[in-house]
Amino acid sequence: MGFNDKSIVVQQLKHLGALLELDGANVFKVNAFRNAIRTLETLEEPLDRLIEEGRLSELKGFGKSIVADVTEIANSADGACEALRELRARIPAGLMEFLRIDGFGAKKARTVWQELGVTTLEELQQACQQNRVAALKGFGPKSQENILKGIERLAQYRGRFLAVQAERQAAPILETLRKLPCVTRAEIAGSLRRKRETVKDADIIAASDDPETVMQAFIDCAKEEGQVIAHGKMKSAIRLGDQLQLDLRVVPDAQFASAAHHFTGSKEHNVAMRGRAQRMGFKINEYGLFKEEAGEEKLIACRSEEELFSALGLQYIPPELREDMGEIAAAEKGELPQLVQEADIKGILHVHSTYSDGKNSIRDMAEAAQKMGYAYIAICDHSRSAAYAKGLSIDDVERQHQEIDALNNEGLGIRILKGIESDILQDGALDYPENVLKRFEIIVASVHSRFNLSASDQTRRIVNAVKNPYCDVIGHPTGRLLLGREPYPVDIREIINAATSEGKAIELNCNPHRMDLDWREILASRDKGLKIAINTDAHSVEGLHDIHYGVGVARKGWCKADDVINACDCDTLLRWRRSAVE
Ligand SMILES: [Zn+2]
Ligand SMILES: [Zn+2]
Repeated sequence: MGFNDKSIVVQQLKHLGALLELDGANVFKVNAFRNAIRTLETLEEPLDRLIEEGRLSELKGFGKSIVADVTEIANSADGACEALRELRARIPAGLMEFLRIDGFGAKKARTVWQELGVTTLEELQQACQQNRVAALKGFGPKSQENILKGIERLAQYRGRFLAVQAERQAAPILETLRKLPCVTRAEIAGSLRRKRETVKDADIIAASDDPETVMQAFIDCAKEEGQVIAHGKMKSAIRLGDQLQLDLRVVPDAQFASAAHHFTGSKEHNVAMRGRAQRMGFKINEYGLFKEEAGEEKLIACRSEEELFSALGLQYIPPELREDMGEIAAAEKGELPQLVQEADIKGILHVHSTYSDGKNSIRDMAEAAQKMGYAYIAICDHSRSAAYAKGLSIDDVERQHQEIDALNNEGLGIRILKGIESDILQDGALDYPENVLKRFEIIVASVHSRFNLSASDQTRRIVNAVKNPYCDVIGHPTGRLLLGREPYPVDIREIINAATSEGKAIELNCNPHRMDLDWREILASRDKGLKIAINTDAHSVEGLHDIHYGVGVARKGWCKADDVINACDCDTLLRWRRSAVE
């Protein structure tokens, strides 16, 4: 007995054919293989009989090697043949995943592998974001964009979405509903409102006396590109083009506060709130807050969530904090922190320009940041070891500094700082000699290579970087890519402790694919003096807007403006830096 079921043989041959192509086999061989597969697929006779009678070679397009492969697969214990095993051992498994991307064939997969050394979807995604794929022969900006979209789609199939994607889709629908005359108010709820970094769907709560009209308007949003999953009187659900599900609940205005609170969650926060209500002789659910009096439940009217919390003796708890991680106790004592806001951010640190792998010039980046109201921007291109990202040679640094001086002299209404994103070398050293390092005004030090060190080696490496007097900020400290690459093994607490005692900052890289440092670590380190840099790591002008998501996640980590180095004005930032260097 073996794998002589035709569909399995066909499947294995297709796999083998793809691997051959990835391996760069010549066109004739690949085409011959395809023809043989087609013959097999349309075969009318049972495959096992053909094999038994040794008649495979009679089939159209079946040469010697294919006959051997098919016979071997059919008779094997593991459904493979020698050629398949050999190629599997040699070709990175991740490349097969590339073939799941729409319009991304084996030839293209081979090119990015050979030219960029990219072997996983996450690395491919990163290469696209860094604009390295568009430059390859046979690619271009359009196909790079399509690859990115394809990868995002694959991630969504896994059932979760980046908050940024969900927010971008929910926002216009929320606006549509808010504009309806019959809607008194509407709000995002669920994990999206709590600023989770990834979500599985998006929830909207709307207040109206005319739920039917609201529901119809909502359903209409799915007309062009999407599908209706449920169309009810008070609750409906649609799925948009890229598979994100949106749920809408419509409630009378009097129930809006309790519904918004209930459906914002988290579940754990709600359980704790219900317990508290009970102990105080109340009952709380999605329909309202009730007081038990003489055996009767009396509704306590709450116009807003503020009133709801207040009725239970609590400060208003911002949605980001509702995770049952100490927020109720703090709210009871009136000790909730004044969370950082977008308006507190004074400057942008860590952006890339065309000097390395950015899409826009220093001038473009600076002017865009100035228009957004920032007082300073630090250009932190890649350092010389990051060859794949056009890292700057010492001469490049010299040229860049001259350009920055000229732009600052010209006066763009924003101060441009001379920064660098220095690779952390394997021993934890920074990427230039001291006489170059000391000319930068801010240094973000990041790991871009050797993700596979042991946790203790990786930790030691990064702690060494923290201790380097020229290092100011540790960039994307765990290297994770949300819905993509797991963090490299590292003891992040030890790194945070080192940064805190050395007076250095840790980056909250707010590229929506990263959100690294994780907010849970920020929360765990609060009150320990940890400084955070909310950095966009923008590779284009558009990327500057990610600061919005970064502030949301920082708030989720209970960050105050005081904890954020780029909430300082420029002089204070530079003083902070000098105090660590000296
Ligand atoms: Zn980086
Ligand atoms: Zn960067």
